[in-house]
Amino acid sequence: MNVDDVDSITVLGAGNMGHGIAEVAALAGYDVVLRDIEDEFVQQGYDKIEWSLNKLAEKDRLSQEDADAALARVSTAVDLAEAVADADVVIEAVPEKMSIKKEVYTELEEHAPDHTVFATNTSSLSITELSEVTERPERFCGMHFFNPPVRMDLVEVISGAHTDDETLDLVEDLAESMGKTPVRVRKDSPGFIVNRILVPLMNEAAWIVHAGDATMAEVDSTTKYDMGLPMGSFELADYVGIDVGFHVLEYMHEVLGDAYEPCPLLSEKVDAGDLGQKTGQGFYDYEDGEGAEVPHDEGSEGVKNRLLGVMANEVAGLVENDVADPAAIDRAVKLGGRFPDGPAKMADSAGIAPLVDALDDLHDETGEARYEAVAYLRDLAQSGEGFYGDGDEGSDDAPAFDTISVDVREGVGHITLDRPHRLNTISTELIEELSTAIDLFSDDGDVRAVLLTGAGERAFSAGADVTSIAASGPDALTGTELSRTGQQTFGKLEASDMPVVAAIDGFCLGGGMELTMCADLRIATKRSEFGQPEHNLGLVPGWGGTVRLQRIVGTGRAKEIIFTADRYDAETMADYGFVNELFESENFETDAFEYAKQFAQGPPVAQRLTKRAMHSAWEDSDAGLEVESQAFGLVFTTTDLMEGVAAFTSDRDPEFTGE
Ligand code: NAD
Repeated sequence: MNVDDVDSITVLGAGNMGHGIAEVAALAGYDVVLRDIEDEFVQQGYDKIEWSLNKLAEKDRLSQEDADAALARVSTAVDLAEAVADADVVIEAVPEKMSIKKEVYTELEEHAPDHTVFATNTSSLSITELSEVTERPERFCGMHFFNPPVRMDLVEVISGAHTDDETLDLVEDLAESMGKTPVRVRKDSPGFIVNRILVPLMNEAAWIVHAGDATMAEVDSTTKYDMGLPMGSFELADYVGIDVGFHVLEYMHEVLGDAYEPCPLLSEKVDAGDLGQKTGQGFYDYEDGEGAEVPHDEGSEGVKNRLLGVMANEVAGLVENDVADPAAIDRAVKLGGRFPDGPAKMADSAGIAPLVDALDDLHDETGEARYEAVAYLRDLAQSGEGFYGDGDEGSDDAPAFDTISVDVREGVGHITLDRPHRLNTISTELIEELSTAIDLFSDDGDVRAVLLTGAGERAFSAGADVTSIAASGPDALTGTELSRTGQQTFGKLEASDMPVVAAIDGFCLGGGMELTMCADLRIATKRSEFGQPEHNLGLVPGWGGTVRLQRIVGTGRAKEIIFTADRYDAETMADYGFVNELFESENFETDAFEYAKQFAQGPPVAQRLTKRAMHSAWEDSDAGLEVESQAFGLVFTTTDLMEGVAAFTSDRDPEFTGE
């Protein structure tokens, strides 16, 4: 069976995850049966799907007709035989208890058709053990969605010991057809990838505080501001639920050994019922206190190296055991943990050898198993290489990009801001890569127009990546430097000889909006939202916002946008003259490409000289007029002009060559 043969999916369990998975499957066009053990539970799940689909329609993420059609594809059942009678794939999301799941699979095997593939959404239980209660262990795998499935892009597709490749391929294709990014986990190993990295990190944070080596504020400040992770370690534990991480850790301890012994700080919280945000009390106090207030300046180099060391050791363990390679691990943790960079890449940047030294020192001091560097990490340190070899990731001469993707087709050089897990926010690395890509296009004769878009469905770019930037040290000097580097890179686009089109779908805020100000033309979907929120944060628009916005919309409107720091809808921004044309969201990718392509077919010399003349006029109108008249003279020497005139007189499309 391949993915085209899948019509009907049954989701077992209509709880938190089950209803979300059913919604995602229905949105992708599958007929879905949602099953729970009681009418009341299954109805609650169905109501949540209805609520969520309507919310998406309200926010213009899909049309009301599509939302209604998706809901119409969902039916509910309590009787298992009825629920799975037509199922091509069953995705199971019942409570995380081996005994419950085994009972479910035993009963399922009795009723499901022979061809049906079983996929479990378990976060930690053994896929192999579960598959063995069925008679189809080769057609059984893990399909681990993240919470909430509607918003989280990652799906870990996990092979049990008996799973065949056809099943893994099918389930990966299925995840893709649902708009998700599958990452293959080649072995059924506790915590799979994302939890295997995040949970030991939480444990180590707790051990550091337990040992009195640093305070909670110091650890969280380091994690959030020095390492640039989305939350402090304790803040994250409270957010996810201390019990959730603790139970995964207990399982890792049982299967993988003493290196995963849970820190008493965690078990004490679990025993006391202080589980984090959901109970109002965890490491921080959410009832009477301020919640997680993480200081931005209490980070420590020692804590950072220790956390990075433990994380690198986990990555090495996964690679050594052939669970996944560094690129898959990085992709998974960036999407599932919203890390700005993958853990393997972070370890490479810190240097593997110093991290191994830090682990060795801790091991000598404490004798604890969790500081024993795994052999693979030690080998890397000795060879002086990183997880990505000697830093040369690509085999050919094209530069490898992490934060953007680049493509040249039919004269259009297309740059996609590619950090959908962070709403395509702009990090220092993204600025550097953008600069390289622009240079590449300038040197590439095939590129005649530039198109800028954002990956994913939520944002063109939601602004500067404040946490990753803060991690590089928020002082006046670095601030000024950062602003300059951004200005220079964005300025390269403005100064480019080619027409530049920014195609905006979703959030276009702060630094993201400033990037679009350097485009010659801006088009947007009607659902897009614009704004310069810098004043809300006490910041100044730092990547050209004070200069370029007023050129486009006039000083009055520019001051209004910057001083109010309000959100503006696309229609208003079109009225203000910021957006040249509005589009529907459907087919926007194709529409944007066609829009840019028309300029790629334009006369390159005339386009270049027109841009120069117009930009010179910003400095001084007389200078602009002078450049204009010289340009006007120059185009008389081009064959493009002859071609333009010839095409006009013979009523055909011109074919400009730039000569
Ligand atoms: P939940 O408690 O919200 O939902 C479980 C549902 O299963 C309940 O509605 C329950 O009535 C139902 N159920 C119980 N026995 C059943 C049976 N025999 N047949 C059908 N339904 C039955 O739990 P959840 O958070 O949705 O977790 C479900 C699974 O997803 C677990 O394996 C969990 O580890 C995994 N998971 C959870 C998260 C998360 O963040 N919550 C993330 C990823 C994976």
